Amino acid sequence: MTLGTWPVGQEAAVGEAVERAREAAAWWGGLDFAERARRLNAWKRTLVHRLDELADLIHREMGKPVDDARTEVVLAIEHLGWAATHARKVLGPRRVSSGLLGINLAATVAYEPLGVVGVIGPWNYPVFTPMGSIAYALAAGNTVVFKPSEYAPDVGRWLADTFAEAVHEAPVFQVVTGAAETGAALCRGGVDKLGFTGSTATGKRVMAACAESLTPVLIEAGGKDAAIVAADADLDAAAEAVAFGAFGNAGQTCVGIERVYVVEEAFDGFVRRVRDIAERIRVGAGPEAQLGRITMDRQIPVIRRHIEDAVERGGTAVTGGPDSVRPPFVHPVVLVDVPEDSEAVTEETFGPTLVINRVRDLHEAVDRANASRYGLGSAVFTADRRTAMTLARRLRTGMTSINGVQSFALVPALPFGGTGDSGFGRIHGPDGLREFTRPKAITRQRFAPPVELASFSRTTKDVTSALGLVRLLHGRRGRR
Ligand code: NAD
Repeated sequence: MTLGTWPVGQEAAVGEAVERAREAAAWWGGLDFAERARRLNAWKRTLVHRLDELADLIHREMGKPVDDARTEVVLAIEHLGWAATHARKVLGPRRVSSGLLGINLAATVAYEPLGVVGVIGPWNYPVFTPMGSIAYALAAGNTVVFKPSEYAPDVGRWLADTFAEAVHEAPVFQVVTGAAETGAALCRGGVDKLGFTGSTATGKRVMAACAESLTPVLIEAGGKDAAIVAADADLDAAAEAVAFGAFGNAGQTCVGIERVYVVEEAFDGFVRRVRDIAERIRVGAGPEAQLGRITMDRQIPVIRRHIEDAVERGGTAVTGGPDSVRPPFVHPVVLVDVPEDSEAVTEETFGPTLVINRVRDLHEAVDRANASRYGLGSAVFTADRRTAMTLARRLRTGMTSINGVQSFALVPALPFGGTGDSGFGRIHGPDGLREFTRPKAITRQRFAPPVELASFSRTTKDVTSALGLVRLLHGRRGRR
């Protein structure tokens, strides 16, 4: 089915968009925070009023159920509002202590916009995910050129069109459509930073292209999130949460749960509960469906290979199996006791499959969860708050949710991003605002320094006095 046709932005078109964005940046970056917030909030209200229209577009373009699409837009709206409201407090000028050596100085720091930010987005959350860069970059005073996924160009265009209705003075937020070539052109197009969300392999290509011009990058890449289930966990609640985390959006979620480590005592009960939920999930294209199609045809053989590999190497499919792959749909698959070095455990599957493996204790659970080249999100289920916090801190991921899945994405004040092959840099929260700025440090002399160190009239006595001060402050035991 063809929903629309969009031009493939070539190098020249991308270059022109960046040029227009640079001119617009002079105006947008020159507005004060309140004026920008007023305009961003006007756009936010449009998103609220036309939410169903946008959700329907997401549904038609990439296939997720309408209610999932609505939820995604709700989250994006929450983030847009937070970024608009908090930009001044996080980024505006503030005085900092000038320290003893700088006692005669007033010191301020402010976070200034970079200029033009390029954003390259994926299709799996075509609004929520890029909005993590777009809203925060705009609120920080940058203009944005956005290349949506070639699987969701209409959604990208819709966002830019509605923004232009709210902010008509200048092309502050533009869209260029196309696939890899257009993305590569944006990397080389003279932007001041590139915010990328997509697979790890593409992230490396983006970084290499940006390296040519020393353009800084933010990389939000893939994941292989693990959940840990302790013996004292509420197994009904844990199974419900993990099933949604694993199968929701047909498993096409960067912070989707793909592995679960369950302590021996709770294993059978947990697997039974997840299996019961998985078997009730409705898959299809109709309005009653809870899981839609697999958006990218080329992912289907990957999902099939991971299931087959797990079963061939001794894993057991307790729900579904290789036959669950019925293009364009994949029905939920629950695999247990899968070898840790099989692809279903080590690679991002990006389908509605879940590996549940048993562990002796929580130490082993953490070790296995951390034995991944990815490090995006994770989840912990236990009734003990202290154990939960200890486990969460030991998990080598950017985010962890306790007794829930993916809940960190609901909190706009929290940073979102990963480590290792999941990328670096952060969207959301104060870190997400600062990501699209450069800190500007200013010192102002209030009175002549008691000891002048930065002058050719400096004497050895001046240096000795400074040294004496430093010895007093930093050279004695028992002090910080
Ligand atoms: P992808 O890497 O195939 O494509 C992402 C974007 O990059 C698309 O817009 C694509 O056109 C563009 N692109 C492709 N080749 C390029 C090149 N050489 N230069 C510049 N741009 C290029 O990813 P996808 O299939 O759209 O999305 C799924 C992936 O995204 C999964 O791995 C998922 O985990 C990840 N993801 C991560 C996050 C996160 O926040 N960490 C969020 C959502 C999705």
